[in-house]
Amino acid sequence: SNPEQDFVLKTIKGRDVHFVRFWFTDVLGNMKSFAVIPSELENAFDDGMGFDGSCVEGFCRTRESDMLAFPDASTFQVLPWRPESNAVGRMFCDIRTPEGKPFEGDPRQVLAREVQRALDMGYVLNVGPELEFFYFKDQHSTEVLDHGGYFDLTSLDYASDLRRDTVLTLEKMGIPVEYSHHENGPSQHEIDLRFTDALSMADAVMTYKLVVKEIAMKHGVYASFMPKPLADAPGSGMHVHQSLFDLDGNNAFFDPNDPLGYNLSDLAKHYIAGLLKYAPEFCCITNQYVNSYKRLVSGGEAPTYISWGARNRSTLVRIPAYRPNREVACRVELRNPDPAANPYLAFACMLAAGLAGIEEELPLQDPTEGLDLFELSRQDLRKQGVRTLPESLGEAVELFAESELMKKTLGEHIHGYLVETKRAEWNEYQGTVSEWERNRYLEVL
Ligand code: GLU
Ligand code: MG
Ligand code: MG
Repeated sequence: SNPEQDFVLKTIKGRDVHFVRFWFTDVLGNMKSFAVIPSELENAFDDGMGFDGSCVEGFCRTRESDMLAFPDASTFQVLPWRPESNAVGRMFCDIRTPEGKPFEGDPRQVLAREVQRALDMGYVLNVGPELEFFYFKDQHSTEVLDHGGYFDLTSLDYASDLRRDTVLTLEKMGIPVEYSHHENGPSQHEIDLRFTDALSMADAVMTYKLVVKEIAMKHGVYASFMPKPLADAPGSGMHVHQSLFDLDGNNAFFDPNDPLGYNLSDLAKHYIAGLLKYAPEFCCITNQYVNSYKRLVSGGEAPTYISWGARNRSTLVRIPAYRPNREVACRVELRNPDPAANPYLAFACMLAAGLAGIEEELPLQDPTEGLDLFELSRQDLRKQGVRTLPESLGEAVELFAESELMKKTLGEHIHGYLVETKRAEWNEYQGTVSEWERNRYLEVL
C-alpha cells in the first residue's frame, strides 16, 4: 500500500470508523454509494470492490453488469453529521471493468482524462463554482422560509443558522468556503467554494450538494437545486469561475498589458472564444433538464445570448472586476451552468471547449459592454444576428447530438446514452399538457 492508503487505515482506527462509504456518480450526476467494513479496505485498494452496475443510471445493461469500484485514498473524510462512535467515512471511487480497464460510463474519469489533456498542454484548470439553491418547508411544496433578497440580513433569518451549520460542516470535510449569502429570490441562498483544481472541485461539489441537503433535513426543511422552482423568482445557477495556471503555478490568464484593459492574456481570450463557440453544444451537459431552460430566459440575471464582458450580468461569460490579488484571481465566469448539472461532465465540457479555443486559435468577438441586449427576446436577438443559447432541452440535445467535440470529450458511451435519454425526456415533456395551457385555452377555444 502507499502512504495515503496507510493514512486512511490509521485514521479509521483512530476515529472509530466502522463504515466506509464508497461514493461515485451516475451519468446524470446522482450520487451512488455502498458501505464496506474497514477490514475489507486493504483488499479494495488493491483489487477494487465488485458491485452490480446494471442498476446505475447510464452505466450498463444487465449482460455486462459487473463493475469494480477503486477508492481514491486521497479523498478520505469522516462524515461529520454521522455519530462519532462507530463513525462513517467516505472515499470517491473510480470505476473499472472486471478486466481492470477504466469504465467509459464513469463521469469522474471523463474529467480526469480532460484534466490530463490540459496537463499535457502545460495547464492546470482551476475552478470556483457558485451554487445557488432554495430552502423550502418540505419537499412536497414550494413554501419558502423567508422573503429576504440579495445580501439581506433579516432578524428572523432562520436560514443564517442553516448556512452557518452547512459552512462549518463543509470545512470539517476539508472544503473551504469563501463566501455565503442570501440570494435574490425569497429563501434562495448561495455558498461559494474557494477555487481549486477541477477534479477536486467536482468531488467537492458532490459533497456540497449532499451536505446542504443533509443539514437542511437536520433542521426539518428541504433544500433544492432545481434550476427554476418558482415561476416568479430567479432560478438557481452554478456560475463557474475558471482559469488556467501553468505548471509553475502562474496564472496563464493574467496579462497586465492587455490592450483591451481586462488584464486578460491571449490564451484567456482564445479560451473564452472556445466557451462562446461551443456553448450551444455543451448546454445539454451544463443545463441538462427540461426545467433548466425555464431559467435561461431574457430579463433575469441568467444568460440567453452568446456574449462576454465585464459589466453586464446577463452575458454568458463575465470578467469579474473585483480582484484583491489580481494576478491569482484573474479569471472568467461562465454563467449558464446550473447546479443540477453533473459537475464532472460540466467541468470536462467547459475545459474541452476552452482548450479547443486555444488549439483553434479562435479570435474573440467584441465584448458587449453597455449594450442593452438583455431585455430583448431570443427572437429579436437572432434577427439582429446575435447567437443565442438553445431555447429548450429539445434544441439543446440536437446540437449536442451533432457535436464532434462532445462525442470526443465524453466518449461514445456517455454521449450516446445522453442523446437517447434526453430525447426521451424532451418527448415525454412535449406529451404533457400544463396548467398554463388549460388556463389560457380551455374556456376560449
Ligand atoms: N440567480 C441568477 C442565475 O440564475 C444569478 C444571480 C447572480 O448574479 O448571482 O444565474
Ligand atoms: Mg449568485
Ligand atoms: Mg456569480
